[in-house]
Amino acid sequence: MNVKRILAALVLVMASVQLAYPQSRIITKAFLTGHINYTRDTSFIKISHKYTDRKVYLQKATYAAYQKMYTAALKDGVVLSVISGTRSFYDQHYKWYSKWSDPEFAGIKDKKQKAQKLLSWWSMPGTSRHHWGTDMDLVNLSPAFYTTPAGKKIYNWLVNNANKFGFYQPFNAGRPTGYKEEKWHWSYLPLAKIYLQEYTRQITYADINGFPGSEAAKELDVIKSQVLAINLACK
Ligand SMILES: [Zn+2]
Repeated sequence: MNVKRILAALVLVMASVQLAYPQSRIITKAFLTGHINYTRDTSFIKISHKYTDRKVYLQKATYAAYQKMYTAALKDGVVLSVISGTRSFYDQHYKWYSKWSDPEFAGIKDKKQKAQKLLSWWSMPGTSRHHWGTDMDLVNLSPAFYTTPAGKKIYNWLVNNANKFGFYQPFNAGRPTGYKEEKWHWSYLPLAKIYLQEYTRQITYADINGFPGSEAAKELDVIKSQVLAINLACK
């Protein structure tokens, strides 16, 4: 009898979680900071080579919306491609560490200064929107590309149409702090907005660690100065 009651209570709890987050999953600290195996997580999927020439995973809901956007763009003569999607804490650690140990930055001995320098373009592991399966880099990662006719055509199409499919540019022009403008980075807001809210609710500087320069995260106030320094439409 007791077991039955416990099971019934469990079903109720799970149902209420489903009601609160109908599109998704239980949003844990581990998920928010990229400590998941997205290749095994059932809410993620490896996207078709029709859309990328790399190994890219996205959340299923993000992917479904992206496929619709891709088809609409193609009808207008714009060919989109995905360069990067979900990145785990360890994927981001690899990127961060390779920059941290790059001879280009070897002259900067002060850890805070060095972290500050890297933060123009690269997120600290545990603070990237790429952890969530909602964000992706499209077509070309060079700012110069978007000054060419081909780059302008693609960017203009995205600016005029991506919102209809739920995608927004978090790192837009004209923000006083945070990452530099990224015309290639687009975020699926129906999910990402929920995750950002949860991030601000759940994550503290005690949760951002395990990589060189993490000591500076609190002093640089990266949650405010990076994670939240985004396009106001994305908040
Ligand atoms: Zn990106």
